[in-house]
This record gives sequence, C-alpha cells and structure tokens, in this order.
Amino acid sequence: MACQWPPVIRRAQEVVKASEKVRALARELKEIISRLDPLIETYTAKVCPTCQDVCCSQTNAYHDFADLVLLLAAGHRPPPYEHHRRLLDPCQFMGAKGCILPRWQRPYRCTWYFCSPLVEAMEAQPPKRYRRILAQISHMQTIRRELLETLQAVLKRGLDSPLF
Ligand code: SF4
Ligand code: SF4
Repeated sequence: MACQWPPVIRRAQEVVKASEKVRALARELKEIISRLDPLIETYTAKVCPTCQDVCCSQTNAYHDFADLVLLLAAGHRPPPYEHHRRLLDPCQFMGAKGCILPRWQRPYRCTWYFCSPLVEAMEAQPPKRYRRILAQISHMQTIRRELLETLQAVLKRGLDSPLF
C-alpha cells in the first residue's frame, strides 16, 4: 500500500505557512510541554522503572495532524516512520531508556496519558505542588484544544483566508 504520509505532511506545512495564529499556538504549546516535562519526569522516574505493563511497548505511536503542525512550526521534520509496524506493536520510538523523542516532539496523546500509578504518585505529593501540576496540565490542554479548533477553522475557511 502506498504511504499516505507525505501528502498529510505537505498539508500540515501549508497550514503552518498560511496561519500566524497556528504558528503562535504551536510555539506556545511547545513551550508549555517543555516546561511540564521535568515535572512529569519526576514521577515517571519513580513509577516507570518497575512497571510490569509498559504502555510504550503496547502501542506504536504516530503523530496526528496537530502534532505534525507543532513539529513543522518549530522547524522540525517529522521523524521517519516504520510503517511496517502494526498498531499494537511496541512503539517505534521506544529506546532502551524510554522514549527517544523529546516530550514536545512526541504525539500529544503520549503526554496526555496518565496511568494509575502515575496519577497516584502525583496525588501523593503535597497538595500545593499537586495543584500546580494540575494547573499546568490544564493550561496545556486548553492551548492544544485552541490549536485544534484553529486548525479546523483554517482548513474549513481555506488557506487564503485573511482572518488567520
Ligand atoms: S507511564 Fe505508566 S504504564 Fe507507562 S511505563 Fe510508566 S508506569 Fe508503566
Ligand atoms: S512516542 Fe515515545 S512516549 Fe509515545 S508511545 Fe512511543 S515511546 Fe512511548
């Protein structure tokens, strides 16, 4: 079967080029995720090394359209994909010490996934710290949603619309 990715990547490139709002939101989302990363790592470092049910070994992750836009807006090409892998194969980006991609370059769903041990580790922190993390996660989700809505609007109106 022919690879469907190049046209999708080209379309994402066109959207990035056409919309300043998309570029701004992508930049903001990259910064938020990068700031959140060390906080999340504090907890994954505690729970992941002893995990018996490693999430990354159960799903091969791909970037969705908004993920591609985020990468391209930051001047990054999407990584080469191993298209022969099936959906439930170990992830193509899993290395010996975990994910080989910096967090902001990972599919958003990877950062958005909080397994029970991870949530429990976060909840066990002092309330003030826990609330701070929740607020950052919520902010990340708000900006991602805004990016998705803007992408939808841009694609619906057409890439030449002056509104974006
Ligand atoms: S995030 Fe959760 S499910 Fe994934 S490896 Fe860590 S502990 Fe396991
Ligand atoms: S992209 Fe990284 S975090 Fe996401 S499933 Fe693959 S190895 Fe895990």
